[in-house]
Amino acid sequence: MNNEVLLLKCGELVLKGLNRARFEDRLLAIVRRRLAPLGEYNVYAIQSTLYVEPLNGAPVDQALEVCRKIFGVVAICRACSCEKDMAKIQQAAVEYLKDTMAHTATFRCQAKRSDKRFPLKSPEIAREVGGALLAAYPQLKVQMDGAQTEVHIEVRDKSAYVYADRVHGAGGMPTGTNGRAMLLLSGGIDSPVAGHMMAKRGLELEAVHFFSYPYTSQEAKQKTLHLAELLAEYCGPVRVHVVPFTKVQGQIRRNCQEDLFTVLMRRFMMRIAEQVARQRGCGALITGESLGQVASQTMEAIGVTNAVCQLPVLRPAIGMDKEEIVAIARRIGTFETSILPYEDCCTVFTPRHPQTKPKLDKVLEEEAKLDVAALVEQAVAGVETILCQPGGQAL
Ligand code: ATP
Ligand code: MG
Repeated sequence: MNNEVLLLKCGELVLKGLNRARFEDRLLAIVRRRLAPLGEYNVYAIQSTLYVEPLNGAPVDQALEVCRKIFGVVAICRACSCEKDMAKIQQAAVEYLKDTMAHTATFRCQAKRSDKRFPLKSPEIAREVGGALLAAYPQLKVQMDGAQTEVHIEVRDKSAYVYADRVHGAGGMPTGTNGRAMLLLSGGIDSPVAGHMMAKRGLELEAVHFFSYPYTSQEAKQKTLHLAELLAEYCGPVRVHVVPFTKVQGQIRRNCQEDLFTVLMRRFMMRIAEQVARQRGCGALITGESLGQVASQTMEAIGVTNAVCQLPVLRPAIGMDKEEIVAIARRIGTFETSILPYEDCCTVFTPRHPQTKPKLDKVLEEEAKLDVAALVEQAVAGVETILCQPGGQAL
């Protein structure tokens, strides 16, 4: 009886030594945790490949879907394992690949022998398996370039593996291997994409959401929590810190010059986010800003906003066009939620003629009319924290 397994191929081949071990250990822990709700799996790593062996009838399809979203996995091969014996390997290829081969006109075999004790060399293994497939499926033709189906045979430590399917994984580095950062998560399109891009580089995410009840509705908050749940499918649970922001906005509106509302508000956001980030041990902030997209994202406005931050601010979408951001949002599955029509706290607060070239001294003058420290302190004290899990149902 041959068993189906998933072979998860890890990326970042440039990683060496201790870093690689850390990367693999982390990925193992993440894959085990993410698969646990589906059933029992034996998960282990050998030579930059993670093996996922379903036990007691645990599902392979669903495990594949979960693993596709885990950062650090570059490709996933759904394979059949068999004994390291040429006749057994041939038989496994003929039987396991039956559905695929019956509908294939051209194919080629590729073999890889990492167990050098196996008596046949890679090209010989490929030839033997190719011969068995040709004999079993007479319509087949071998084609070296542009074959419809590529059959892979890997002779590894424990077993041999045969597969035809190889799907892309999420790529990047396992969550947490590069520390933790605080995402400023609105209900819009850009910030979930920015969070995804940085989580892909191995950052564990937490998020702050500025909530201006009753100017923004409970639905707007739920929508943001749902976006965090969607991100969590890739990077694990995301703690969302919901910040009461109504008072800050009210104070700005009552006391400050209208054309500077947005930039003043954004400076408060950054200050508050930075405090929450420090409390939570985050080493950076992440925003979804894109240069020139709106008045508050001109170079001058970003400069004035950035002036209140000591932590690095990561802006992975800064050089991207809206279409590029939207394409990612669609691919990662956040777009449909982001475009739900609930107002966010910026849209109800937008000045008629925002200043696109704010000057720091003028902004400081306006801010001097407010008790900045007290407003920040109150907002931080009022934070409500919600843990958003993959597969959650916030909407
Ligand atoms: P997004 O689509 O991410 O909302 P945007 O194009 O609407 O971005 P802005 O509203 O200017 O741009 O916001 C710029 C960035 O500031 C956002 O990408 C996000 O990181 C942060 N931000 C804006 N509003 C909020 C909010 N209510 N809560 C948390 N962060 C926010
Ligand atoms: Mg927005």
